[in-house]
Amino acid sequence: MNYIVRTKTPLFTGDVERKTTAIRETGIIGSMRWWYEALVRGNGGHACDPTLKDKCEGCDACNVFGSTNAARTFYLRFDEKSAKSTGTKQIKVEIDDGARWYLPAGKMGEFNLSIVGLRGKKKIVESYIPVLLKLMANWGGIGAKNYIGYGVFELLDEQCTAVKIDDLAVGKLLGSISSGKPGTLKVPSLKKMFFCKVTFDFSSGLPDTALGIADRDFQRCKSQKFLPYAAHFRRQLRALFRASSDTSGYPSVLPCLSRFEDSKLWSLRHETIGEARGQSRQGSKIAVSHIYPVDEEKFLWEMRIWGYIPDQQIPAGVDDTIIIADLKERFADEAFWRYCLGNRLITKHSVRFRYVKNRDDYEEYKTFVTDLVLNL
Ligand SMILES: [Zn+2]
Repeated sequence: MNYIVRTKTPLFTGDVERKTTAIRETGIIGSMRWWYEALVRGNGGHACDPTLKDKCEGCDACNVFGSTNAARTFYLRFDEKSAKSTGTKQIKVEIDDGARWYLPAGKMGEFNLSIVGLRGKKKIVESYIPVLLKLMANWGGIGAKNYIGYGVFELLDEQCTAVKIDDLAVGKLLGSISSGKPGTLKVPSLKKMFFCKVTFDFSSGLPDTALGIADRDFQRCKSQKFLPYAAHFRRQLRALFRASSDTSGYPSVLPCLSRFEDSKLWSLRHETIGEARGQSRQGSKIAVSHIYPVDEEKFLWEMRIWGYIPDQQIPAGVDDTIIIADLKERFADEAFWRYCLGNRLITKHSVRFRYVKNRDDYEEYKTFVTDLVLNL
């Protein structure tokens, strides 16, 4: 089957300028596998940890994506159709309190994605992979650096080569995955993830600058149809996990965490939001996109946020579902977004927020996945 991947925010798959297409394809397959594993674990199936040395005996993820013992069930090609680099240099984002990010160049445009099922596996590929790709396109991302703006895309099937994607197709995929016991929820698991899309109405004017970004860099991004605000949002996201005596600054700590001293929140903040500085580099569990247009005539632009809250560091008396519910509340608050974006141009915003409330209810999980795939 042949798709066109059209970027909404820059695609990052390693050093896009210099390295070979083979490396780029590895990055694409790697991100597909990440989402498939999350889907498998959410379903109660088994996805091995590929970083462990033990050879896999054949888990639900390796059955499709291969392992040292088994070949991948499909062949994938990913090449440029019409894509342009977002620049030759990285963009520096330097915000007042010394927080600093460097956004490397990515690519905006269209890519050809072609997937062929290997002999005997054609059916698997043609019925399951399109469901996975739709989920990634509708609510997640592709490639690397999703946590800092990259990888939101649209999936076009101009030649209609793939199967129809409906609730039956989703049910078939979930039915193909082994289901285990609830309670053994390793992460990342779709069942523990939240997904959010925030739509901004910029009808009173699009932002023209962003705090800490050189004007020419901001204008270049804008001319390529994305607004580089992921770092600004990440900064405020971190503040939601920080106890502070300063009540003048909005947003402040999440209500469910407000009774704890900051020493109790440090590990949670570190594990959840990630840490790029110092000795211990820690990846972010929450991905944040840049802002991209959904309907330019109506001045509607959107940002995506998705991820999970790692269990280990949550203070006693709180759990990740309580934190997720608090995030949902916070994201509904317009003042929060005006603060994040450093301007007052947003006249209104709307939020779509999805997560599984009762994790023991398999039907709820199934509906949740179906709604994500069908973008309901
Ligand atoms: Zn495996």
